[in-house]
Amino acid sequence: MHQEIEKRRTFAIISHPDAGKTTLTEKLLLFGGRIREAGAVKSNKIDRAATSDFLEIEKQRGISVATSVMTFEYGGKLINILDTPGHKDFAEDTYRTLSAVDSVILVIDSAKGVEEQTKRLMEVCRMRDTPVIVFVNKLDRDGRPTFELMDELEEMLDIRVRPLTWPINMGQRFKGVYNLYEQNLYLFNPGKTVVEDERRLIADLASDDLEQEIGETDAGQLRDDVDLIEGVYEEFSVDEYRAGRTAPVFFGSALNNFGVRELLETFVQISPPPAPRPSTLREVQPDEATFSGFVFKIHANLDPRHRDRIAFLRVCSGRFERSKAFLHVRSNKQMRFSTPYSFMAQKKEIIDEAFPGDVVGLYDRGDLKIGDTLTEGEQLTFTGIPVFSPAIFKELINTDPMRDKQLRKGIKQLTEEGVAQLFTQRIGNRLIVGTVGDLQFEVIQHRLNAEYGASCRLKPLSYYKACWITADAKKDLDDFMQYREPQIAWDKDDQPVYLAESQWMLQSIIDDNPKISFRFSSEVA
Ligand code: GDP
Repeated sequence: MHQEIEKRRTFAIISHPDAGKTTLTEKLLLFGGRIREAGAVKSNKIDRAATSDFLEIEKQRGISVATSVMTFEYGGKLINILDTPGHKDFAEDTYRTLSAVDSVILVIDSAKGVEEQTKRLMEVCRMRDTPVIVFVNKLDRDGRPTFELMDELEEMLDIRVRPLTWPINMGQRFKGVYNLYEQNLYLFNPGKTVVEDERRLIADLASDDLEQEIGETDAGQLRDDVDLIEGVYEEFSVDEYRAGRTAPVFFGSALNNFGVRELLETFVQISPPPAPRPSTLREVQPDEATFSGFVFKIHANLDPRHRDRIAFLRVCSGRFERSKAFLHVRSNKQMRFSTPYSFMAQKKEIIDEAFPGDVVGLYDRGDLKIGDTLTEGEQLTFTGIPVFSPAIFKELINTDPMRDKQLRKGIKQLTEEGVAQLFTQRIGNRLIVGTVGDLQFEVIQHRLNAEYGASCRLKPLSYYKACWITADAKKDLDDFMQYREPQIAWDKDDQPVYLAESQWMLQSIIDDNPKISFRFSSEVA
């Protein structure tokens, strides 16, 4: 058991769209022998231009199930890459997936530096001290000066950085990356798209070979840079990285499969095995004898003829076993899964057991929700799956009175899948849907129609934020809610939220109601 846990490395690759996440994923899979040629990994990116084409969205949904978890072995480790959607309108899905990993690789475009999505994703990693490795990509193009980029990373990502490789020039003049960790240099050979063992190696920076290979100017510059790095940055510490305080930085070009091997080889050496996980009762250790795990993602109705769903379960402790009865903590009922599958092969494969760090796909008829915990009897619930206030709110209005039931069922299931958040108002039984981006509304309208035969109109509402409200004394909360009833709604777990119309209004409400606490995120608990 201990060995099985030690072997596993479960992580996600995250980036601002277009930085190179898909390309890097593909190259890692090539090294892992999971795929044989480039082009085998399809991007799950949804093009804004293509969104009117709903077939496209459906296709993307199919792809994103197929590539949700990619497993391969490398360097004696069993590596699980959890895929995250690239489009920012689906950021919530990414945040949930990040609750199920033990570390991340963050891809940065060397010309663009830290972008908006990069910052937000990093904030989520910081919340849990998730260890981060940075891969600066596209060195085959002209990018920002390297030291400047390092400063930007440190400042904008709010983490100490420590280069472990270092580029020699960039763009047309890019010659390779020096491996500071292993103190050797591999020279760039553009256009490499398959795994090659032939690497030109210079083991000693002081040797004249360096001049011969890269010329006097670049050799001098590299020696100066390396001196400067060793002077400026503290020695790399694996502990600091694993504590989420220092991010090692690698350079390369995913497209040219350059610098990727250095990244992967270091990754298998330093990345953390499955970590303990916080729960409502205590911290759960992976090597505990009894099984526990939680659902972080749900995919519904891939086949519209069957209403079944796939729940993605992260194993946190003990051993998951096929057909064994586990406690579904929220409903306090026993559940058995006779066809759990893993993502080890290109095809889904039924498995008999799984260990901490693994992700298991469970068929479900609608009993499981995101955030649900399964155990061998203990009444604990894993915490740490964030729900943030939506940015856009619309009222869902039924346009086919004969199918009100289907509409309500459909929206409930879609929001359980995490496509959007649903708030219900007691007055008038109003349904309010909140999302991060506009794209989700299109998806909702389309899927309600295609999968539930329900049609609806979405009426824009001018809310600015949803705040989860609590108070020490129930009476204070009741008074507040009674007085502001038109702006109170209930989330899917029946927690009250206050819908604020503007930042200014919200601030004055907060100031006027010191006994009420307002939160901008809620944890699925
Ligand atoms: P994602 O949105 O982060 O998944 O990005 P992709 O992997 O789809 O890459 C976005 C674009 O950048 C694609 O056109 C890639 O071919 C290109 N790209 C990825 N890596 C590199 C690289 O190292 N150099 C160059 N020049 N282009 C790259």
